[in-house]
Amino acid sequence: MMARQQWSRRAVLGGACACAFHARAGAADARIHPAAMTALAPVGFRPTERDERGMWQSCERLEEEIAGSNLLLPSPAFQRYAKQVVDRLVGDRAGETRVYVVHDPDFNASMFPTGMMLVNTGLLARMRDEAQFASILGHECGHYLRRHSLSRWRDTKAKTGVMAFVQAGASVGAGITAGAGGAGANWMDLANAINASLVLSILSYSREHEREADAYGVKLIEEAGYPPEAAAMVWEQLIAERKASAAGRRKKYRDRSLSALSTHPASALRLADLSVSGRELRDIVVTGRRYDAQKARWDAAVAPLRADLLAEQVRLNDPGASLYLVHAMAADGWTGLLRYNEGEVYRLRDEAGDAQRAATSYAAAIGHADAPAEAWRAHGYALLKQGRGEEGKAALGRYLAERPGANDAGMIRFSINQ
Ligand SMILES: [Zn+2]
Repeated sequence: MMARQQWSRRAVLGGACACAFHARAGAADARIHPAAMTALAPVGFRPTERDERGMWQSCERLEEEIAGSNLLLPSPAFQRYAKQVVDRLVGDRAGETRVYVVHDPDFNASMFPTGMMLVNTGLLARMRDEAQFASILGHECGHYLRRHSLSRWRDTKAKTGVMAFVQAGASVGAGITAGAGGAGANWMDLANAINASLVLSILSYSREHEREADAYGVKLIEEAGYPPEAAAMVWEQLIAERKASAAGRRKKYRDRSLSALSTHPASALRLADLSVSGRELRDIVVTGRRYDAQKARWDAAVAPLRADLLAEQVRLNDPGASLYLVHAMAADGWTGLLRYNEGEVYRLRDEAGDAQRAATSYAAAIGHADAPAEAWRAHGYALLKQGRGEEGKAALGRYLAERPGANDAGMIRFSINQ
């Protein structure tokens, strides 16, 4: 029995991910043309070799656990929507892919050799339209269609020995409860708990694989009728957010992908390649296709999740990044929800002047019809602090009226009766 291997969550996710900021620039990093990307995976492929079957069993066991765990975003409607977007991209391969949206504030997605795709809630928080969302899913489908994990697995197998992989597949039966995902848990913990961590090593794709997946993703979204520039837009936003995050911590922005150990192409290079590929498809592919970013469809799908997605980001207490996200969403118009979260970022940051900034945001929030009840509570306490007792109590009363059964109702009543 081999020793259980522990993988650093960041390291593996960085590898697995569509958009990890890890990589090294180099002369060998030539752009891959989207048109050169064709599927290597035969339709309906199932492994026949014993050891590869073991790897699949591991992935399937992990999938069973994830499908029954509380890591899943509890929104059947959005889970269905995500799958529909993938189906639009892969056409006749739709039957081979499953999508699971999981709670995790990091920007990430991963693809397994069996056709299981994981998408983080942190990714949803950052997409502006369906085309951007599709560009990430398309990148992940690219890994699948090019069978990247297979070649990765063959590489690793050659180094590690076949038996280790057979055992990794055979030893996943120990079982953990389906509710393993408590606070702070994620699917990596789940994978470790069922000893599928060795399998996860195949998800740390090489730089070449990332470039192929990028190119394939652009091709897939263009064919599905999304503007091919969407993928580059995602990278532009990510780099801008990273810069805002660094500035918020008074640090200089550094592309973490510029590390010798990294397996991912540098962010700036990926952005440049994706921009060229996007423009190239629009100029060269004369298909007469009309592109639509499907923003209205995206907004409708994500609207019921918006409050939770924002709260998940704000809780990270990365004020530069959170303010960037809030202000980016406000480009479509301010809402009570956005103003409330802006206030929460200031309140958590708690620097000189932030209490006043937060109070201003809360006051703006309650001016919108969609202001969440929590905005009334926050506004009420801000007023009390300013010595505006009657107004503050009225605002707290409004909170109670909207949330009569709130956990803190007793405390709020106490504040009102002071
Ligand atoms: Zn990738």
